Amino acid sequence: MKYCLTCLQPNTRVNEQFSEDGKCSSCINFELTRNVNYLERFDLLKEIIAKYPRKKGSHFDCIIGVSGGKDSTRQAIWVRDKLKLNPLLVCLSYPPEQVSELGVKNISNLIHLGFDVLFSGPAPGTWKKLMRHAFLTFSNWAKSTEMALYSSVPKTAIAYKIPLIFIGENQSLRDRKTIDPEKPWEYNNLISMNTLGGGDLTWMRDAGISDVELISYGFPDKSEVNAAGLNVIDLGWFIDNWDNLGNAMFSTSYGIHIREDKAENTGDPLGVSALDEDWVTLNQMIKFLKFGFGKVTDYMNEDIRAGRISREKAIEIVEKYDGACSDQYIESFCQYIEISVTQFWEVVHKSVNKSLFEITPDKKILKKFKVGFGL
Ligand SMILES: [Zn+2]
Repeated sequence: MKYCLTCLQPNTRVNEQFSEDGKCSSCINFELTRNVNYLERFDLLKEIIAKYPRKKGSHFDCIIGVSGGKDSTRQAIWVRDKLKLNPLLVCLSYPPEQVSELGVKNISNLIHLGFDVLFSGPAPGTWKKLMRHAFLTFSNWAKSTEMALYSSVPKTAIAYKIPLIFIGENQSLRDRKTIDPEKPWEYNNLISMNTLGGGDLTWMRDAGISDVELISYGFPDKSEVNAAGLNVIDLGWFIDNWDNLGNAMFSTSYGIHIREDKAENTGDPLGVSALDEDWVTLNQMIKFLKFGFGKVTDYMNEDIRAGRISREKAIEIVEKYDGACSDQYIESFCQYIEISVTQFWEVVHKSVNKSLFEITPDKKILKKFKVGFGL
């Protein structure tokens, strides 16, 4: 394991390739954005959207997938107030056992801000079965829910005949291989993203879930997408300071509620990510145990690149909080997917990267590497 010499990106991140002088791809990408003229990009965006006039009889110009959190709130406001479009917001709602109080408040906030929000709620029984299977098999419960989340937007776009879709990705973190250099703002190959496994439902069918039950999880066929003329545009390319802090500052000024729990419990020093449910905390912990980095590293890397913190100070914060997860979240998750806490740890221990961590005889997980230095 090696670290980027500029930030704290380890080379254990999927698809990461350091340059010869030891810089990670995100730092290189970030450097490229330093001299961007965002006014020019804004004009370009206006030209692009002019090609997608509102369909006759429709009230909406575009679609945005939302959770009510910092990123989606910023996108919705920006699209409405800067681009002067009327977006249809699409929200995939979690089952009652999963959705957090904050999530409910934040989606209500969007409605109070005057937006139309369309909700879809996948059948809770299938949701739970898939989540359980994904956790026990891949130690990643979100494998199925992410597919439902990402596929709900293009499916709604097709059903409502609204081809223009906006999403907001962190440009520095985007895998360059998925970017068309001619149109770096397009994100039409969303399905091929690593986490979505190319939209393949085989593992779900293998878990005994029927095709009818999987309707909420499948992506539309390529032919349907093409026939509907969908175009997915990444607003992260068009908006200056599009990052965790920038989006959180913007969206809290528009009324979103953020986490109050301590970073020792959540592994989230800003308390601004994935506010609509709490089990993301244990997923970040597991990611940390697989790859040696979690949410805190991502935050700190953005802060280092933007010159808001020194690498040394960031190392201290990552050492302290990355991978943190309170027992309370683990217990509620185990209760939901109906496994014991002992079973939970058995699955986690199996997925721990043994070259980065050691499991002691009394089942403690100790890290072998030093943040910022590696192994
Ligand atoms: Zn870097």
